[in-house]
Amino acid sequence: MTIDEKLTILTDSAKYDVSCSSSGSVRTLDFGGVGSVANGGICHAYSADGRCISLLKILFTNYCIYDCAYCVNRIGNDIRRAAFTPEEVAGLTINFYRRNMIEGLFLSSGIISSEDHTMRLILKTLRLLRHTYRFNGYIHVKLIPGASEDLIIETLTLADRVSSNIELPSSQSLALLAPDKTREKVLQPLTMAKNYSLEHQKHPIGMSTQLIIGATPESDLEILRLSTSLYKKTMLKRVYYSAYIPINNVKNLPSLGTPPPLLREHRLYQADWLIRFYGFGYNEIVDEAAPNLDERFDPKLSWALRNLHLFPIEINTADRETLLRIPGLGVRGVDKILKARRFRPLNVYDLETMKISLKRLRYFVTVGGKLLIDRSMDYQQIQTELLSLPKPPPSAQPTLFEYFYPTVMGEL
Ligand code: SF4
Repeated sequence: MTIDEKLTILTDSAKYDVSCSSSGSVRTLDFGGVGSVANGGICHAYSADGRCISLLKILFTNYCIYDCAYCVNRIGNDIRRAAFTPEEVAGLTINFYRRNMIEGLFLSSGIISSEDHTMRLILKTLRLLRHTYRFNGYIHVKLIPGASEDLIIETLTLADRVSSNIELPSSQSLALLAPDKTREKVLQPLTMAKNYSLEHQKHPIGMSTQLIIGATPESDLEILRLSTSLYKKTMLKRVYYSAYIPINNVKNLPSLGTPPPLLREHRLYQADWLIRFYGFGYNEIVDEAAPNLDERFDPKLSWALRNLHLFPIEINTADRETLLRIPGLGVRGVDKILKARRFRPLNVYDLETMKISLKRLRYFVTVGGKLLIDRSMDYQQIQTELLSLPKPPPSAQPTLFEYFYPTVMGEL
């Protein structure tokens, strides 16, 4: 099989993994080396499926001895298989890099022969890139759950980011659909990476994982509870949510042709953002009474509508934490307000001058003690008005294959 044929098969097989954005790590150019990683992380470009393509994103092999029901590469599937050698992956990476086509490598793999054998092949690729080619660019590799600690530790010394995909949000779903995996087994390499980062502060390693959304019945509450725990316990940089695309006709999974829940995926990313940057607890966003995110509104707006007794909030006196909870105000808007009001109290024209949209904000604030809406408005009225606001045209970027992405973008 030619390299071109392998590339066709193994780039296509890799497209279902979304856990590949850069970690913002820093690596300066060594004398005699090639490439560097900038402070802001590598630049991203996105293909038609909305995934990152500035990295060479490939599988080492799509052979796999596991039989995960949701995966195109499972052993039971009759698909075209291919496997690179470490020399081929290293050669491709350095050649694409020199031609300015990529800025780094994202390397994942099916399990070929055994976990240790697969991890050794990935490690050999990294050694070639770092030691033989002196490649200093960005490398993200998938750690192989169940591989030996010494192999994982050496991989950590050579990579910028690592991931180990949990895939299914509960142990029961894993047992049902991925019988070779357990939560503990998948988390084990991430725990090693966390310990490594704590011991080697000069080379902290970025870690991420992926959760498949909509393949199994877990609610958004269970998913966000798990993400929160992963951020706290394993120091993950990112949890990626991947709307399930039915590719196998398997009992217990959505049937072929079921559209992936892309809007749900989008709402989960918004909720995740609120948890990481806006000070929300997962149980403020979803709870036992309403365990799934409202698809009509972004999670912050939905939270505000359920907590109207906390509003209106005075723009001139509220602290940062409180301002961040106002729908329509993002981090940048809050920072502008805090800076400007140091000099004098703000009025509504100041907000407009700062290019802060009043579209949603006006329902939830007072400015200088004045309401911006009719005092008598209640939950139903606000909800009806918000639902009637014109929607921005759907962004072309997040489309996934042929499916339409009915999203509402903008600051939370
Ligand atoms: S181990 Fe990975 S590649 Fe193999 S079947 Fe499971 S998800 Fe697919």
